[in-house]
Amino acid sequence: MTGINRREFLAVPVGSSLAGSLFASEGDVGWQRRIRRLGQLNMTEHDPVEMNVEEWADYWASLKVDAVQVSVTGILAFYQTKVPFHRKGKYLGERDFFGECCTAAKKRGLRVVGRMSPDLNWAEALQAHPEWFQRDGEGRPVALSEDPRLFRTCMFTGYMTEYMPAIMREVNSLYDVDALFTNAWPPLGRLPDCHCSVCKDLPKVGTIDYWDRFNQRTTYLWKLYDGIAKEKRPANFYFANLGGGIRSSANLVALGELCEWFQCDNQGRGGDDTPIWACASQGRVCRAVQEGKMATNVTGAWSTGPVRWRYVAKSELEQRMWFNETVASGMVPYHHVIAPRKAWVRIAGCSNLRASSSSGQRGTIRISGTRTASPTLAL
Ligand SMILES: [Zn+2]
Repeated sequence: MTGINRREFLAVPVGSSLAGSLFASEGDVGWQRRIRRLGQLNMTEHDPVEMNVEEWADYWASLKVDAVQVSVTGILAFYQTKVPFHRKGKYLGERDFFGECCTAAKKRGLRVVGRMSPDLNWAEALQAHPEWFQRDGEGRPVALSEDPRLFRTCMFTGYMTEYMPAIMREVNSLYDVDALFTNAWPPLGRLPDCHCSVCKDLPKVGTIDYWDRFNQRTTYLWKLYDGIAKEKRPANFYFANLGGGIRSSANLVALGELCEWFQCDNQGRGGDDTPIWACASQGRVCRAVQEGKMATNVTGAWSTGPVRWRYVAKSELEQRMWFNETVASGMVPYHHVIAPRKAWVRIAGCSNLRASSSSGQRGTIRISGTRTASPTLAL
């Protein structure tokens, strides 16, 4: 085949990664099909004053990730946005925090994915644009249960066709991003039950007719955002958080044709009877709907156990097992850290990713015309 021996072959990530590695040169496929490791620090409002940008970038470079996700906005902007109702974080000050992170990552040769979350916004946006938001059966805006200052936006409204595109185009105009990503949309697991002025004319939630409309809207928005990403440069693209395996809320067959990158939000076991192959089953779903394209599985470094402590590292062996399941099922490992202050650099599980990334490590192979493929499977 390519001159690699069996031992090396067994170390190659299969499925999407394998297809991209063995049968195409660098010029034939998008950059996303050649990456082998990813990372993300889920940024918080404090980070502009607490996080050392150079340390952050050094950390990811030391893990030899090929790309990082950087927060453009979640519920708060990390740069000096001019888009109305895109609220800046209270610790941002005059800084261009996203821009600094983007520059630091690029200096180290990492691709940058701009991460945004279109699912929530604040009371001032609700006041100015009540039509953007979900309504309950009594017509009241739907507040977030964890923080009632935030309200759920509706995917069938101009929030998704006017407000989000404005942010995406602003990011394109200011930064050297390689892709645009949305967290929290499309919704995972549960379809929105909204009674806003648009949704009240849709078929009843829970029916096939509603699901068809949901998928039509999802496909429309996906194409819209992908087109905006490509306004920056043709190789750029848009993708979103998916996952959920065969229980996904969206039509994965339709999205498999559209998406360049299937991002699985399947971060670990929850302390219940989830089997160890739950992660790998997600990989099989990815391969079924979009053979040959990029698929990643996000592995949380934080505790996904019975107590979901985001500031506590999960067991190192548990994380390694999840990475191994990811690679064995054809997906690319994605190391996801949520932690306060500098604790994230001490997450024990990081060694799992780092262990496979040093030069000359077992399980590391080089195939002509591709980047180094370094799976976390220990041989
Ligand atoms: Zn609605």
